[in-house]
Amino acid sequence: MMAGSHIALGAAAWFVAGPRLDLPALDPALLGLSVLGALLPDIDHPKSWVGRRLRPLSTILAMFLGHRGITHSLVAVAGCIALLLWQDVPFGFAAPLVVGYLSHLIADLLTPGGLRLAWPLRRSFAFPLCRTGSPFEPLVVAVALSAAWGSAPAGLQWCGGYHLAGVEWLRLCDDGTMLPALRALLGGKTSLDQWWQLAQAR
Ligand SMILES: [Zn+2]
Repeated sequence: MMAGSHIALGAAAWFVAGPRLDLPALDPALLGLSVLGALLPDIDHPKSWVGRRLRPLSTILAMFLGHRGITHSLVAVAGCIALLLWQDVPFGFAAPLVVGYLSHLIADLLTPGGLRLAWPLRRSFAFPLCRTGSPFEPLVVAVALSAAWGSAPAGLQWCGGYHLAGVEWLRLCDDGTMLPALRALLGGKTSLDQWWQLAQAR
């Protein structure tokens, strides 16, 4: 798929996975890491978005391993997890990277080219729904996005960093008159309804 599709699907994957891993779905930093993870596998293609930015490495990988080789396999996923564990990367940073990476593999599986998931074995897997760059690609992305948003748990924690800052702010300023809805909001239990009630109350 195209880089734009991987960006959208990396974000969609995080909408679904983040809350289920007890991490905020809409935290900009975690969303960014998921999108980064969703772009990384194409480092084996010098003309891809990430390949153009890391051209020397990308050229070497393309020359020796080819596009949709090891970086598009479960071996790479296991290698990434092992590397992140070895480097003691906190779960909150590692999880979105891995989720984004997996979203890339799932997205590429939907194209006729398929993937050699069990690399170095030559067997290729595919569930072809659309060709890369075809008019059906944005359609598939749109359906996946709306399905992801629809399946996201209610009461998404909007922003982890802002959430923590908000809790601290409330602790410092609370003189006992804060609106209950604001408490719920900063407690991470908010919903769009509570936002609306809060807006109307002010
Ligand atoms: Zn790819």
